[in-house]
Amino acid sequence: KNIIITVDGYSSCGKSTLARALAQELNYIFIDSGAMYRAITLYFLNNQIDIFDDHELEKALRNINLKFQYDPVSGSSHIHLNGVNVENEIRKMNVSNAVSKVAALEKVRDFAVEMQRKMGRSKGIVMDGRDIGTTVFPKAELKVFMTADKNIRVKRRYDELKQKTGYANLNDVIRNIENRDHLDTTRKISPLRQAEDAVVLDNSELNAEEQLAIVLQWAKE
Ligand code: C5P
Repeated sequence: KNIIITVDGYSSCGKSTLARALAQELNYIFIDSGAMYRAITLYFLNNQIDIFDDHELEKALRNINLKFQYDPVSGSSHIHLNGVNVENEIRKMNVSNAVSKVAALEKVRDFAVEMQRKMGRSKGIVMDGRDIGTTVFPKAELKVFMTADKNIRVKRRYDELKQKTGYANLNDVIRNIENRDHLDTTRKISPLRQAEDAVVLDNSELNAEEQLAIVLQWAKE
C-alpha cells in the first residue's frame, strides 16, 4: 500500500538523509520541502525582491517555477528553479540566513503548501520539513519527529556545507542553526511543532542504517 510519511524536526537533524533513504527503500517519491523554501529565497535574493511589499511578493511568486528532477550523477532528485538546477546554490550561507524569514510569510507558505499537497497525490511519498505532519498532511499515516544532540547537528551541517559549497565556518553554522530554530518555532503560521500523533526519533547515536531499520519497522506497523 502507498502511504504518506512525514519527517519533521529542527534544523540539521538529518531529516533529508533519512527521508531520502526511506523513499529509495520503499520506491516512494522523496520531497525535500526545505529545498522549496530555499529556492524561493534564492529567487528573492537574486531579484532583490522587497518581501514586505505585498504586490511585489505576489508578482515574484507568480514568476517562480519549481521542479524536482532526478540527477543520475548523485542518484537523488535535485530542485530546479525556473529550469536551473540550484541544489548546491540553495545550501549557501546567504540563503540559509534569509530562508526562515521568507518561510514565515503567509503568501510564501500558501504557495509552497499548495505545491506540496499536489505532490502528495502522486503515489507513496516521504516529505521532510517543519510543518509536514501538522499542516501539510495532518492525516499522514506515519509521522516521524526527529531530534538530535545540538553538537552533532552543527557538525553535520558544517560537513554538508563544506562538501556542497567548498566552504564552511563553524561559528556561522552554529549561529544559523540557532536563529532558524528560533524563527521556525516562534513564527505565527504553522510553527515547527511535534504533531500529537508523531513518533520521536532521536538519532544522536544512530547511524543511517539503524535509523532506516527503525522507521521501516514503524512503516510496516
Ligand atoms: O530543511 P531545511 O533546513 O533545508 O529548511 C530550510 C528552512 O526552510 C527552515 O529553516 C524553515 O525556515 C523553512 N521550512 C519551513 N517549512 C518546511 C520546510 C522548511 O518553514 N516544511
